[in-house]
Amino acid sequence: MNLHEYQSKQLFAQYGIPVPPGRVASSPEEAEAAAKALGGSLWVVKAQVHAGGRGKVGGVKVAKDLDAVRAATKAMLGTTLATHQTGPEGLPVHQVYAEAGSKIVREIYLSLVLNREAGRVAFVASAAGGMDIEEVAEHTPEKLIHVNIHPTAGLQDFQVRQLAFAVGLRGAQIAQFGKIAHALYKLYLERDAALVEINPLIVNGDGDLLALDAKINIEDNALFRQKDLAAMRDASQENAMERKA
Ligand code: ADP
Ligand code: MG
Repeated sequence: MNLHEYQSKQLFAQYGIPVPPGRVASSPEEAEAAAKALGGSLWVVKAQVHAGGRGKVGGVKVAKDLDAVRAATKAMLGTTLATHQTGPEGLPVHQVYAEAGSKIVREIYLSLVLNREAGRVAFVASAAGGMDIEEVAEHTPEKLIHVNIHPTAGLQDFQVRQLAFAVGLRGAQIAQFGKIAHALYKLYLERDAALVEINPLIVNGDGDLLALDAKINIEDNALFRQKDLAAMRDASQENAMERKA
């Protein structure tokens, strides 16, 4: 079962993974009120669908004033967003996430997946994060590094350093990265995730790491013991045939 970005970011925040402040909204007025409450002078309006690739098809809009927040929300709500991850039929947009805008210095890719061949949970990371990660995987797979985690030993500090160096982090960022990696691994195990992905994990204008996007997939067979997550299900984002099956 997939979670929405805003739900995934709530979980991130619970585990101490830094995310920008944001609020979910289901009308232009709510989005404007959300942006006002967040404060600042730069916001991003993000269509909440169970798919990535939104940025390339108008599902992520930067807004420099409250009128732009309202307009972007109005343009997204009630539409069907088709991204390269949804197929041509697309997914309905019932909610947007209004979030504080960040200055982006670098975009890193970081995820945890189950490596079935190795029988290990594995980190995948790349310095070439951002919207083109699928192309990186297809054309320059050497830019992705994989680190398998031993189930009893757990995530080791040398592995964290290996990942941090591979994505080009230095100095204080390495400690920040370590906290994020350990928190992600904890979340993955405790919440029975099948995938946890941050793309992009950014270095912001202050040199700090921040999760700008969040994708979590929960193992369906574990939902009986993840009741709070099961309650986050949004059937409107699921294939009707598959759901019936
Ligand atoms: P998707 O993966 O569905 O395209 P993202 O959340 O990754 O959606 O957003 C796409 C791009 O939009 C990001 O790579 C980033 O450049 C930009 N972006 C997203 N959120 C913010 C934000 N809070 N502040 C500034 N830029 C953002
Ligand atoms: Mg993304």
